[in-house]
Amino acid sequence: MNKETSQAYIALGSNLENPIFQVQQAFGELKQLSGIDLVRQSSLYKSAPVGRLDQPDFINAVALIETRLTPHDLLNALLSIEQQHGRLRETLNAPRTLDLDILMYDDLQCHDEKLTLPHPRMSQRAFVLKPLFEIAPDCHIPGLGHIAPLLAACHEQQLEQIST
Ligand code: ADP
Ligand code: MG
Repeated sequence: MNKETSQAYIALGSNLENPIFQVQQAFGELKQLSGIDLVRQSSLYKSAPVGRLDQPDFINAVALIETRLTPHDLLNALLSIEQQHGRLRETLNAPRTLDLDILMYDDLQCHDEKLTLPHPRMSQRAFVLKPLFEIAPDCHIPGLGHIAPLLAACHEQQLEQIST
């Protein structure tokens, strides 16, 4: 892609209906979206649920993409992939077949009713920071700084890198 493209990091997560398969399939679907190139993908990680504990473990991963889509068009494209995976929105922190979040879009900071960038909870979550660190160890998160100390501060959160 040319200079008019932006770089964005996407978080993938699932804890229902064969989560490993859901996340692997989502990587394939990201690749096929027009206006998006999948540049890098992390390993898959297994994590215990946060917030609501009575639900299955999660599989998480992070992707780096290059895109010509605007942030809001990218969000809509991700939400439509979630829908194809039968995603239902019930309550906050509910189990989900697939969750696709935009972590960062270039060095943009924004906050409106649809989209907050960087993603508001990414800096406290090992299941986001660990896979992000794997593919972007020098990453600087707009408004928050370098990834390394943020990840170090989450060291008590259990996370298992899984081989597939
Ligand atoms: P969560 O991912 O926090 O568990 P949902 O996946 O149900 O919650 O997302 C709810 C809404 O969050 C989405 O419809 C979207 O409009 C909004 N949202 C705000 N910022 C972001 C972002 N950076 N990435 C993805 N969704 C976002
Ligand atoms: Mg989401």
